[in-house]
Amino acid sequence: MSTLILKRPDEIEKIRASARIVAEALDLAGTLIAPGVTTGEIDSRIEELIRSRGAVPSFKGYRGFPAATCISVNEVVVHGIPGERRLEQGDIVGIDVGAYLDRYHGDGARSFPVGAVSAEAAKLLVVAQEALLAGIAAIRAGGRLGAISHAVQTHAEANGFSVVRDLVGHGIGRSLHEDPQVPNFGPATAGPVLRPGIVLAIEPMVNAGTWEVRTEADHWTVVTLDGKFSAHFEHTVVVREDGPEILSLL
Ligand code: MG
Repeated sequence: MSTLILKRPDEIEKIRASARIVAEALDLAGTLIAPGVTTGEIDSRIEELIRSRGAVPSFKGYRGFPAATCISVNEVVVHGIPGERRLEQGDIVGIDVGAYLDRYHGDGARSFPVGAVSAEAAKLLVVAQEALLAGIAAIRAGGRLGAISHAVQTHAEANGFSVVRDLVGHGIGRSLHEDPQVPNFGPATAGPVLRPGIVLAIEPMVNAGTWEVRTEADHWTVVTLDGKFSAHFEHTVVVREDGPEILSLL
């Protein structure tokens, strides 16, 4: 059984500083997304913004990842590598950003529509974001981590969608990925007890069809097994005595 890292107040403020740069980067992404823009252009602009704040992109070079951000279009669930792909009207695009400042990481993701999207895609985006917020709202100091997992899964499945099992959220701080794992599925009674000072990156990946995924030959790009769309939202959140506080907000 691993020991969960409880962050001191000064550490939480450092994570907040990094997570705010992530929020700023995701706001920027929202202004850039349009038909015809390449994912590589979005990645460059976000990297520029992160570095202009004195931070470095957490993902660049992480286990050899080649870009500052993960940009995942349509059936790509997460870990899409930005490049020459041009966004098209009707796409949905997930942008995942990490920033590292003063020895602490912040992590966050949002998914966006490109122009007008199908009714099902629009619903997927809404439900995935709601699932994240439901998971965060389930956090109680003294409660179980499984409450997050259960709330996310329940909301996604009640709306006819599924949650990815193979990838999970995580603790965050000095390292981008720390214990505990934060699954987006499972019973509310599972997992460790949440204590004030635990910082989590909660990140539901919600699929329109099957929850099953596979990784492409580049060893990064994770896609849905059935080729249907997937949406991803993430916040960095601290457990407080009186409930959750989202750190990845401006
Ligand atoms: Mg993450």
